[in-house]
Amino acid sequence: MIYLDNAATSPVYPEALEAMKNVCTADYFNPSSTYSAGLRVRARIAEARGTVASALGCAPDEVYFTSCATEANNWALTCGAKNKKGNIVVSAGEHACVYECAKFLLSSGLDVRFCKLNSRGEADEADLLSKVDESTCLVSVMHASNETGVINDIAHLSRAVKRKAPRALFHSDGVQAFLKTDNDVGRLGVDLYAVSGHKVGAPKGIGALYISSRVKIRPFIHGGGQERGLRSGTENVAGIVAFAAAIERYKHDFTHEDAMKKRDLAVKLLGGLEGVKVICEQSDVTGMIVAFTAAGTKAEIIQSMCSDDGVLIGRGSACSSRLAGNRVLREIGLSSGEIEGALRLSFSPETSAEEIEEAVRVIGRNIEKLRGGRVG
Ligand code: PLP
Repeated sequence: MIYLDNAATSPVYPEALEAMKNVCTADYFNPSSTYSAGLRVRARIAEARGTVASALGCAPDEVYFTSCATEANNWALTCGAKNKKGNIVVSAGEHACVYECAKFLLSSGLDVRFCKLNSRGEADEADLLSKVDESTCLVSVMHASNETGVINDIAHLSRAVKRKAPRALFHSDGVQAFLKTDNDVGRLGVDLYAVSGHKVGAPKGIGALYISSRVKIRPFIHGGGQERGLRSGTENVAGIVAFAAAIERYKHDFTHEDAMKKRDLAVKLLGGLEGVKVICEQSDVTGMIVAFTAAGTKAEIIQSMCSDDGVLIGRGSACSSRLAGNRVLREIGLSSGEIEGALRLSFSPETSAEEIEEAVRVIGRNIEKLRGGRVG
Protein backbone atom coordinates (compact mmCIF):
# COMPACT_ATOMS: atom_id res chain seq x y z
CA MET A 1 0.00 0.00 0.00
CA ILE A 2 1.10 3.56 -0.72
CA TYR A 3 -0.29 6.00 1.82
CA LEU A 4 -0.41 9.62 0.64
CA ASP A 5 -3.06 10.98 2.99
CA ASN A 6 -0.86 12.08 5.88
CA ALA A 7 -2.71 15.38 6.25
CA ALA A 8 -5.72 13.30 7.35
CA THR A 9 -3.72 11.30 9.84
CA SER A 10 -0.35 9.60 10.15
CA PRO A 11 0.87 6.21 11.36
CA VAL A 12 2.10 6.22 14.95
CA TYR A 13 5.90 6.22 15.30
CA PRO A 14 7.38 3.25 17.22
CA GLU A 15 8.99 5.70 19.67
CA ALA A 16 5.55 7.16 20.42
CA LEU A 17 4.04 3.69 20.91
CA GLU A 18 6.88 2.72 23.25
CA ALA A 19 6.36 5.85 25.35
CA MET A 20 2.62 5.13 25.52
CA LYS A 21 3.15 1.54 26.50
CA ASN A 22 5.31 2.57 29.42
CA VAL A 23 2.74 4.92 30.93
CA CYS A 24 -0.09 2.43 30.30
CA THR A 25 1.65 -0.44 32.05
CA ALA A 26 4.59 0.49 34.34
CA ASP A 27 3.85 4.16 35.05
CA TYR A 28 0.04 4.10 34.87
CA PHE A 29 -0.53 6.22 38.01
CA ASN A 30 -2.72 9.29 38.19
CA PRO A 31 -0.50 12.37 37.77
CA SER A 32 -2.55 14.16 40.44
CA SER A 33 -1.74 11.51 43.05
CA THR A 34 0.69 12.86 45.61
CA TYR A 35 2.68 9.67 46.28
CA SER A 36 5.96 9.29 44.48
CA ALA A 37 4.62 7.12 41.62
CA GLY A 38 2.05 9.83 40.80
CA LEU A 39 4.72 12.52 41.00
CA ARG A 40 6.84 10.51 38.58
CA VAL A 41 4.01 10.52 36.05
CA ARG A 42 3.50 14.23 36.64
CA ALA A 43 7.18 14.72 35.83
CA ARG A 44 6.69 12.81 32.54
CA ILE A 45 3.94 15.26 31.61
CA ALA A 46 6.18 18.19 32.52
CA GLU A 47 8.95 16.80 30.35
CA ALA A 48 6.55 16.31 27.42
CA ARG A 49 5.17 19.83 27.91
CA GLY A 50 8.75 21.07 27.63
CA THR A 51 9.17 19.25 24.30
CA VAL A 52 5.97 20.77 22.86
CA ALA A 53 7.00 24.19 24.21
CA SER A 54 10.43 24.00 22.65
CA ALA A 55 8.86 23.01 19.29
CA LEU A 56 6.64 26.11 19.55
CA GLY A 57 9.33 28.42 20.93
CA CYS A 58 7.33 29.23 24.08
CA ALA A 59 7.52 28.59 27.82
CA PRO A 60 6.23 25.22 29.07
CA ASP A 61 3.50 26.88 31.14
CA GLU A 62 2.08 28.39 27.96
CA VAL A 63 1.24 24.90 26.62
CA TYR A 64 -2.15 23.35 27.53
CA PHE A 65 -2.87 19.79 26.48
CA THR A 66 -6.28 19.11 24.94
CA SER A 67 -8.03 16.07 23.47
CA CYS A 68 -7.37 17.23 19.90
CA ALA A 69 -6.94 20.36 17.81
CA THR A 70 -10.69 20.60 17.30
CA GLU A 71 -10.98 21.15 21.04
CA ALA A 72 -8.03 23.58 21.09
CA ASN A 73 -9.56 25.65 18.27
CA ASN A 74 -13.02 25.63 19.91
CA TRP A 75 -11.40 26.76 23.16
CA ALA A 76 -9.50 29.55 21.44
CA LEU A 77 -12.58 30.85 19.66
CA THR A 78 -15.26 30.47 22.32
CA CYS A 79 -13.18 31.66 25.26
CA GLY A 80 -11.02 34.09 23.26
CA ALA A 81 -14.10 35.90 22.00
CA LYS A 82 -14.51 37.14 25.56
CA ASN A 83 -16.10 40.49 24.86
CA LYS A 84 -19.51 39.57 23.49
CA LYS A 85 -20.02 43.17 22.38
CA GLY A 86 -16.97 43.01 20.16
CA ASN A 87 -16.55 41.17 16.90
CA ILE A 88 -14.40 38.32 15.69
CA VAL A 89 -12.88 37.93 12.25
CA VAL A 90 -12.25 34.48 10.83
CA SER A 91 -10.84 33.49 7.47
CA ALA A 92 -13.16 31.67 5.10
CA GLY A 93 -10.45 29.09 4.47
CA GLU A 94 -10.51 27.64 7.96
CA HIS A 95 -10.90 23.97 8.82
CA ALA A 96 -14.45 23.03 9.84
CA CYS A 97 -13.54 23.05 13.53
CA VAL A 98 -12.85 26.79 13.37
CA TYR A 99 -15.38 27.68 10.67
CA GLU A 100 -18.31 25.82 12.22
CA CYS A 101 -17.41 27.12 15.68
CA ALA A 102 -17.43 30.66 14.27
CA LYS A 103 -20.84 29.98 12.70
CA PHE A 104 -22.08 28.74 16.07
CA LEU A 105 -20.88 31.97 17.72
CA LEU A 106 -22.62 33.92 14.96
CA SER A 107 -25.88 32.06 15.62
CA SER A 108 -25.57 32.85 19.33
CA GLY A 109 -25.51 36.57 18.59
CA LEU A 110 -21.82 37.43 18.24
CA ASP A 111 -20.72 39.71 15.41
CA VAL A 112 -18.65 37.29 13.31
CA ARG A 113 -17.03 38.48 10.08
CA PHE A 114 -15.57 36.15 7.49
CA CYS A 115 -12.57 37.26 5.46
CA LYS A 116 -12.18 36.14 1.83
CA LEU A 117 -9.39 34.06 0.38
CA ASN A 118 -7.47 35.35 -2.64
CA SER A 119 -6.79 33.28 -5.75
CA ARG A 120 -3.47 32.13 -4.26
CA GLY A 121 -5.43 30.45 -1.46
CA GLU A 122 -4.28 32.91 1.23
CA ALA A 123 -6.46 34.92 3.60
CA ASP A 124 -6.90 38.17 1.69
CA GLU A 125 -5.03 40.79 3.68
CA ALA A 126 -6.98 43.83 2.46
CA ASP A 127 -10.32 42.12 3.12
CA LEU A 128 -9.14 40.92 6.54
CA LEU A 129 -8.00 44.38 7.62
CA SER A 130 -11.18 45.99 6.31
CA LYS A 131 -13.14 43.75 8.68
CA VAL A 132 -10.96 44.41 11.73
CA ASP A 133 -11.78 47.46 13.84
CA GLU A 134 -11.18 48.69 17.39
CA SER A 135 -13.93 46.40 18.73
CA THR A 136 -12.39 43.25 17.28
CA CYS A 137 -11.61 40.89 20.13
CA LEU A 138 -10.26 37.94 18.16
CA VAL A 139 -8.90 37.16 14.71
CA SER A 140 -8.37 33.60 13.53
CA VAL A 141 -6.33 32.74 10.44
CA MET A 142 -4.95 29.26 9.93
CA HIS A 143 -1.20 28.90 9.43
CA ALA A 144 -1.27 26.32 6.61
CA SER A 145 -4.34 25.08 4.75
CA ASN A 146 -5.34 21.44 5.10
CA GLU A 147 -6.86 21.64 1.62
CA THR A 148 -3.99 23.18 -0.34
CA GLY A 149 -0.96 23.36 1.96
CA VAL A 150 -0.81 27.14 1.32
CA ILE A 151 0.90 29.09 4.10
CA ASN A 152 -0.55 32.34 5.41
CA ASP A 153 2.06 34.91 6.39
CA ILE A 154 0.95 34.91 10.02
CA ALA A 155 3.87 37.05 11.27
CA HIS A 156 2.83 39.80 8.88
CA LEU A 157 -0.94 39.46 9.38
CA SER A 158 -0.80 39.33 13.18
CA ARG A 159 1.20 42.56 13.31
CA ALA A 160 -1.05 44.31 10.79
CA VAL A 161 -4.12 43.27 12.83
CA LYS A 162 -2.57 44.47 16.11
CA ARG A 163 -1.80 47.86 14.61
CA LYS A 164 -5.53 48.31 13.88
CA ALA A 165 -6.90 46.51 16.93
CA PRO A 166 -4.25 46.46 19.68
CA ARG A 167 -6.52 44.57 22.08
CA ALA A 168 -7.50 41.80 19.66
CA LEU A 169 -6.18 38.31 20.25
CA PHE A 170 -4.61 36.64 17.24
CA HIS A 171 -5.29 32.91 16.98
CA SER A 172 -3.90 30.55 14.39
CA ASP A 173 -4.76 26.92 13.69
CA GLY A 174 -1.27 25.48 13.31
CA VAL A 175 -2.23 21.84 12.68
CA GLN A 176 -0.90 21.52 9.13
CA ALA A 177 2.05 23.86 9.69
CA PHE A 178 3.37 22.39 12.93
CA LEU A 179 6.95 21.11 12.45
CA LYS A 180 6.62 21.72 8.69
CA THR A 181 7.47 25.42 8.61
CA ASP A 182 8.62 28.05 11.09
CA ASN A 183 6.06 27.79 13.89
CA ASP A 184 7.88 29.82 16.53
CA VAL A 185 4.95 31.55 18.22
CA GLY A 186 7.04 34.58 19.16
CA ARG A 187 8.11 35.19 15.57
CA LEU A 188 4.53 34.56 14.40
CA GLY A 189 3.24 37.13 16.89
CA VAL A 190 0.24 34.98 17.85
CA ASP A 191 -1.54 34.81 21.21
CA LEU A 192 -3.11 31.41 20.63
CA TYR A 193 -1.93 28.52 18.42
CA ALA A 194 -3.47 25.05 18.09
CA VAL A 195 -1.63 21.83 17.20
CA SER A 196 -2.58 18.16 16.86
CA GLY A 197 -0.60 14.99 17.56
CA HIS A 198 -1.98 12.61 14.97
CA LYS A 199 -0.69 14.61 12.00
CA VAL A 200 2.91 14.12 13.13
CA GLY A 201 3.16 10.50 14.24
CA ALA A 202 1.34 10.57 17.59
CA PRO A 203 -1.97 8.75 18.12
CA LYS A 204 -5.35 10.40 17.62
CA GLY A 205 -6.82 12.12 20.67
CA ILE A 206 -4.07 14.49 21.74
CA GLY A 207 -3.62 18.14 20.88
CA ALA A 208 -2.40 21.31 22.51
CA LEU A 209 -3.22 24.98 22.68
CA TYR A 210 -0.49 27.58 23.12
CA ILE A 211 -1.86 30.41 25.24
CA SER A 212 0.53 33.33 25.59
CA SER A 213 1.26 34.28 29.20
CA ARG A 214 0.11 37.80 28.21
CA VAL A 215 -3.42 36.48 27.72
CA LYS A 216 -6.11 35.77 30.28
CA ILE A 217 -8.48 33.20 28.84
CA ARG A 218 -11.48 31.52 30.47
CA PRO A 219 -11.31 27.82 31.43
CA PHE A 220 -12.75 25.54 28.78
CA ILE A 221 -13.57 22.52 30.95
CA HIS A 222 -14.35 22.98 34.64
CA GLY A 223 -13.48 20.31 37.18
CA GLY A 224 -10.48 19.10 39.13
CA GLY A 225 -8.22 21.94 38.02
CA GLN A 226 -5.76 20.12 35.74
CA GLU A 227 -3.81 22.14 33.16
CA ARG A 228 -3.43 25.00 35.62
CA GLY A 229 -7.18 25.22 36.20
CA LEU A 230 -8.03 25.94 32.57
CA ARG A 231 -8.73 22.49 31.15
CA SER A 232 -9.83 20.00 33.75
CA GLY A 233 -9.93 16.24 33.30
CA THR A 234 -7.37 13.59 34.15
CA GLU A 235 -4.57 14.04 31.67
CA ASN A 236 -4.25 11.75 28.65
CA VAL A 237 -0.78 10.77 29.82
CA ALA A 238 -0.29 8.15 27.07
CA GLY A 239 -1.21 10.66 24.39
CA ILE A 240 0.93 13.38 25.93
CA VAL A 241 4.15 11.35 26.17
CA ALA A 242 3.53 9.89 22.71
CA PHE A 243 3.05 13.41 21.32
CA ALA A 244 6.44 14.46 22.71
CA ALA A 245 8.17 11.34 21.34
CA ALA A 246 6.57 11.87 17.93
CA ILE A 247 7.68 15.51 17.86
CA GLU A 248 11.30 14.48 18.50
CA ARG A 249 11.19 11.92 15.69
CA TYR A 250 9.37 14.22 13.24
CA LYS A 251 11.83 17.05 13.89
CA HIS A 252 14.68 14.64 13.26
CA ASP A 253 13.23 13.26 10.01
CA PHE A 254 11.71 16.37 8.41
CA THR A 255 13.65 18.85 6.31
CA HIS A 256 12.20 21.70 4.30
CA GLU A 257 14.42 20.81 1.31
CA ASP A 258 13.13 17.25 1.27
CA ALA A 259 9.50 18.42 1.53
CA MET A 260 10.00 20.79 -1.41
CA LYS A 261 11.68 18.04 -3.46
CA LYS A 262 8.64 15.82 -2.92
CA ARG A 263 6.27 18.60 -3.82
CA ASP A 264 8.25 19.55 -6.96
CA LEU A 265 8.27 15.93 -8.08
CA ALA A 266 4.52 15.52 -7.52
CA VAL A 267 3.75 18.84 -9.22
CA LYS A 268 5.89 17.91 -12.24
CA LEU A 269 4.36 14.45 -12.61
CA LEU A 270 0.77 15.58 -12.03
CA GLY A 271 1.29 18.47 -14.47
CA GLY A 272 2.22 15.90 -17.12
CA LEU A 273 -1.18 14.17 -16.85
CA GLU A 274 -3.77 15.15 -19.45
CA GLY A 275 -6.33 17.64 -18.05
CA VAL A 276 -4.85 17.77 -14.56
CA LYS A 277 -4.21 21.10 -12.85
CA VAL A 278 -2.27 21.60 -9.63
CA ILE A 279 -4.15 23.93 -7.26
CA CYS A 280 -2.29 26.99 -5.91
CA GLU A 281 0.87 25.88 -7.70
CA GLN A 282 2.60 29.26 -7.37
CA SER A 283 1.78 29.88 -3.70
CA ASP A 284 4.01 29.61 -0.65
CA VAL A 285 3.34 26.08 0.66
CA THR A 286 4.57 23.64 3.28
CA GLY A 287 5.46 21.12 0.57
CA MET A 288 3.65 18.35 2.42
CA ILE A 289 0.31 18.80 0.63
CA VAL A 290 -0.28 18.92 -3.12
CA ALA A 291 -3.86 19.59 -4.21
CA PHE A 292 -4.86 19.00 -7.80
CA THR A 293 -7.93 18.61 -9.92
CA ALA A 294 -8.87 16.41 -12.81
CA ALA A 295 -11.81 18.48 -14.05
CA GLY A 296 -14.58 16.48 -15.63
CA THR A 297 -13.99 13.50 -13.33
CA LYS A 298 -15.44 12.75 -9.93
CA ALA A 299 -12.88 12.81 -7.14
CA GLU A 300 -14.62 10.16 -5.06
CA ILE A 301 -14.53 7.71 -7.97
CA ILE A 302 -10.83 8.32 -8.68
CA GLN A 303 -10.11 8.03 -4.96
CA SER A 304 -11.93 4.73 -4.73
CA MET A 305 -10.29 3.34 -7.91
CA CYS A 306 -6.85 4.29 -6.54
CA SER A 307 -7.73 2.71 -3.20
CA ASP A 308 -8.61 -0.54 -5.04
CA ASP A 309 -5.12 -0.31 -6.60
CA GLY A 310 -3.50 0.13 -3.16
CA VAL A 311 -2.91 3.88 -3.34
CA LEU A 312 -4.62 5.97 -0.65
CA ILE A 313 -5.08 9.64 -1.48
CA GLY A 314 -7.23 12.36 0.04
CA ARG A 315 -10.06 14.61 -0.98
CA GLY A 316 -9.54 17.86 0.95
CA SER A 317 -10.37 17.65 4.60
CA ALA A 318 -11.06 14.06 5.66
CA CYS A 319 -13.60 15.34 8.21
CA SER A 320 -15.69 17.17 5.63
CA SER A 321 -15.00 15.13 2.50
CA ARG A 322 -18.49 13.70 2.70
CA LEU A 323 -20.08 17.13 2.61
CA ALA A 324 -21.25 18.39 -0.76
CA GLY A 325 -18.85 20.70 -2.58
CA ASN A 326 -15.82 22.31 -1.07
CA ARG A 327 -16.19 25.70 0.53
CA VAL A 328 -12.46 26.46 0.53
CA LEU A 329 -11.80 25.60 -3.13
CA ARG A 330 -14.90 27.59 -4.11
CA GLU A 331 -13.47 30.57 -2.20
CA ILE A 332 -10.23 30.31 -4.16
CA GLY A 333 -12.26 30.54 -7.37
CA LEU A 334 -12.31 26.98 -8.70
CA SER A 335 -15.24 26.04 -10.94
CA SER A 336 -17.79 23.40 -9.88
CA GLY A 337 -16.21 20.93 -12.32
CA GLU A 338 -12.75 21.55 -10.86
CA ILE A 339 -14.07 21.16 -7.33
CA GLU A 340 -15.78 17.87 -8.21
CA GLY A 341 -12.47 16.51 -9.47
CA ALA A 342 -10.28 17.85 -6.64
CA LEU A 343 -7.92 15.48 -4.83
CA ARG A 344 -5.05 15.85 -2.40
CA LEU A 345 -1.73 14.10 -1.92
CA SER A 346 -0.07 14.59 1.45
CA PHE A 347 3.31 13.30 2.47
CA SER A 348 5.20 12.28 5.57
CA PRO A 349 8.96 12.61 6.02
CA GLU A 350 9.13 8.89 5.13
CA THR A 351 7.33 9.20 1.78
CA SER A 352 9.72 8.17 -1.01
CA ALA A 353 10.09 9.51 -4.55
CA GLU A 354 9.23 6.01 -5.84
CA GLU A 355 5.94 6.06 -3.94
CA ILE A 356 5.04 9.44 -5.44
CA GLU A 357 5.96 8.21 -8.94
CA GLU A 358 3.89 5.05 -8.59
CA ALA A 359 0.94 6.90 -7.07
CA VAL A 360 0.84 9.43 -9.92
CA ARG A 361 1.05 6.57 -12.47
CA VAL A 362 -1.98 4.92 -10.82
CA ILE A 363 -3.87 8.23 -10.62
CA GLY A 364 -3.17 8.94 -14.31
CA ARG A 365 -4.30 5.47 -15.36
CA ASN A 366 -7.54 5.77 -13.41
CA ILE A 367 -8.31 9.26 -14.73
CA GLU A 368 -7.89 7.92 -18.27
CA LYS A 369 -10.09 4.92 -17.52
CA LEU A 370 -12.81 7.11 -16.07
CA ARG A 371 -12.66 9.60 -18.91
CA GLY A 372 -12.71 6.79 -21.44
CA GLY A 373 -15.84 5.37 -19.79
CA ARG A 374 -14.02 2.18 -18.91
CA VAL A 375 -15.38 2.00 -15.37
CA GLY A 376 -18.10 -0.52 -14.61
N1 PLP B 1 -7.21 21.99 11.79
C1 PLP B 1 -6.71 21.51 10.65
C2 PLP B 1 -6.07 22.45 9.69
C3 PLP B 1 -6.76 20.14 10.37
O1 PLP B 1 -6.25 19.68 9.23
C4 PLP B 1 -7.38 19.28 11.31
C5 PLP B 1 -7.53 17.83 11.02
O2 PLP B 1 -7.78 17.44 9.89
C6 PLP B 1 -7.88 19.83 12.49
C7 PLP B 1 -7.78 21.18 12.71
C8 PLP B 1 -8.53 18.97 13.54
O3 PLP B 1 -7.55 18.26 14.24
P1 PLP B 1 -8.00 17.09 15.26
O4 PLP B 1 -8.24 15.88 14.41
O5 PLP B 1 -6.83 16.93 16.19
O6 PLP B 1 -9.21 17.54 15.96
